[in-house]
Amino acid sequence: MLELKNIKKSYKTGEFVQHALKDVSIEFRKNEFVCILGASGSGKTTLLNIIGGLDRYDSGDLIINNMSTKKFKAIDWDRYRNNCVGFIFQNYNLIPHISVIDNVEMGMTLSGISASVRRKNASDALKKVGLLEHAHKKPSQLSGGQMQRVAIARALVNDPDIILADEPTGALDTKTSVQIMNLIKDIAKDKLVIMVTHNPELAKDYASRIIEFQDGKKINDSNPLKKEEKDDSLINIRKTAMSFATALKLSFNNIKTKKGRTFLTAFASSIGIIGIGLVLSLSNGFKIEVDNFEKNSLSQSPVIISTQAMNMSEENMMKMMEGGSDREKYPDKKEVYVEKDVMESMMHTNVLTKEYLDYLKDIDKTNLSGIAYQSATHLNVINKSENGYNLVTDSWTVLPSNPNEGEQGIIENNFDVLLGEIDQNVPGLILQIDNRNGIYESAIEALGLSGETISFEDIMNAELKVAINDEYYLEYGKGFMPNLDLESLYNSENSITLKVQAIIRVKEGKEILVSGSGLGYTNALTELIIEKNKDSKIVNAQREANYNILSNQPFDDLPNSNNNKETMISYLGGEATPYMILLYPKNFDSKENILDYLDDYNKGKDEAESIQYTDMASMISSLSGNIMDAITIVLIAFSSISLVVSSIMIAIITYISVLERTKEIGILRALGARGKDVKRVFNAETFIIGLASGLLGITIAYVLTFPVNIVIENLSGLPNVAKLNIVHALILVTINVILTIIGGAIPSRMASKKDPVIALRSE
Ligand code: ADP
Ligand code: MG
Repeated sequence: MLELKNIKKSYKTGEFVQHALKDVSIEFRKNEFVCILGASGSGKTTLLNIIGGLDRYDSGDLIINNMSTKKFKAIDWDRYRNNCVGFIFQNYNLIPHISVIDNVEMGMTLSGISASVRRKNASDALKKVGLLEHAHKKPSQLSGGQMQRVAIARALVNDPDIILADEPTGALDTKTSVQIMNLIKDIAKDKLVIMVTHNPELAKDYASRIIEFQDGKKINDSNPLKKEEKDDSLINIRKTAMSFATALKLSFNNIKTKKGRTFLTAFASSIGIIGIGLVLSLSNGFKIEVDNFEKNSLSQSPVIISTQAMNMSEENMMKMMEGGSDREKYPDKKEVYVEKDVMESMMHTNVLTKEYLDYLKDIDKTNLSGIAYQSATHLNVINKSENGYNLVTDSWTVLPSNPNEGEQGIIENNFDVLLGEIDQNVPGLILQIDNRNGIYESAIEALGLSGETISFEDIMNAELKVAINDEYYLEYGKGFMPNLDLESLYNSENSITLKVQAIIRVKEGKEILVSGSGLGYTNALTELIIEKNKDSKIVNAQREANYNILSNQPFDDLPNSNNNKETMISYLGGEATPYMILLYPKNFDSKENILDYLDDYNKGKDEAESIQYTDMASMISSLSGNIMDAITIVLIAFSSISLVVSSIMIAIITYISVLERTKEIGILRALGARGKDVKRVFNAETFIIGLASGLLGITIAYVLTFPVNIVIENLSGLPNVAKLNIVHALILVTINVILTIIGGAIPSRMASKKDPVIALRSE
């Protein structure tokens, strides 16, 4: 059943070649107690390792079951070791971090035998060696003799046909040695036991056959097989495979023995996760806040329809940044390329036709809290101050009016009226001050006032006049502005008297929507001016002459659209052609409705006829969204560096672990573990560390969101901004596990490639 044929084995150390076995041939019986005797260095261990399939012979053959093993693959040797051979070593070679019974079970665990069968067989084997009551101790809690008995139980438990013992009593006192030898003799009854010793007394007392070795050669065999004694009985070889659960258990037990280090490793490698977790929970929370802000406040900012609209589509933005061309840079050709002006192509002229204005009038007004038509009405305003009469440059806004009878409009919703009363039906001015009662100097100067502080009363008492066009331009025609007779214009009975109707201040919490300060006027004023200038001679003359009196040029020669005839005439004549319309939505949903309504108008129209609107709110929020995304990405990139660093750290830790567990690798291999199984043990270890550090990191990140939220609330007033999303948490833990396994992959592979013999020799 087992035969060595002309086995040779040598070891090379640098230049030096050590012939450990020189042409050894031995035939064994299925059932005998063989002692190999020989001085130290004579090749006994080498012989045993080759018989046990731990080491490979250089030449010759090892015959098992009448079969040559020349063609054996690694997996065949693993199976052979696992279930045909039981090893007993001089230094016991028990795995220190698992219990006695787990050590005994290991061989069976490797061959995938069920837990209950394992437990029963291991208990039986421990009973046989008299150690059942010590089953749950760790090996280090036993004496040398007891440890060797555990090793014997382990060698027996898989019921192998061959027991290989390498100086099993070498480390024991005489009394214990005798007990161990009796035990081995006992199990030798139905097995082939090959025991190496350098003690001839022991050999004589116990062996049925003594083979002497010297210098790598067999020099004597006391009981060789006779010719007719050919033994054809077979050894039976089963499969082996370690389950991942076993690998996990092994690694978990090993990790338990170094809790402090494992915790520190997990903590250090969790820092990346903590960083990313916090960044994600912050950006997640901020996104929710921004969304809410957009829904609640930003959605009420007006949708603007202007005669000139800027098309800020992504496509156009790209064009602007790249210069609008994908042509080769620095070409050699001696020619230039004519291009469209990017800015020009981004501008869209909205022709606000009567049809469109009528379409707007039909808008569902329940969606609106305010509407303002800004006409190109020019006001010839004159004030009277301490320095005399002044012409006022007007940059005032038209107040948005409430389109719905009986409902609160945009002004009432956002402003407190501090003094006076707003009446849109009466021509007049409204002074808007900021939340600190601030107002720009120009607005005060326009009212003919001056000083550091002005009382509400003075403001309410200020009086302005708007001259009608015919009188104003008659004066204008006489010379340049300083020569205008402002006094007579001011005092003309045709001039309109203007006073401040009310002083309004933005309500608390509405600052974002309606910040700033300045003068506005009621719609009624616009209407009054249009009415007063209806039959203006000067405007009609202009219209007929097709001539712009202000720039002293025919309209047709003026390229700038701001100077074209329509605009200019309405500017001078105060016609009701709006150049800008502001629609104030009530809320998020009504804004959607308004935009849908505006979009509907453009359906089926070509580019030139279409009316483009500007939605500042969505531009702001998409911009802030993009900025948020960019910041998030940058922060995550930084945190990811620590993730990579931690996988390198895991690689180092795993490498150290491989070095520390080299002996264990050897033991597992001797028990029949495949290289794959060893790899699995270390992958399991990195898996555990990766999972632990991932969970730890997420937990810490979650706990940190509480103080972070307190800080943010103190700084910005926003509560509970940082929110850790459970999906993000799960993804992060998974990524961490994958990264640590990748980090540990190389050391794990190294472990699986370790030579079992060398691994066993290590201490
Ligand atoms: P024994 O067990 O009889 O003391 P060994 O079989 O361990 O002897 O060793 C036989 C010879 O081979 C010794 O000279 C030893 O130094 C050498 N040897 C054993 N293993 C190795 C190895 N892995 N590398 C180099 N030389 C080795
Ligand atoms: Mg030896």
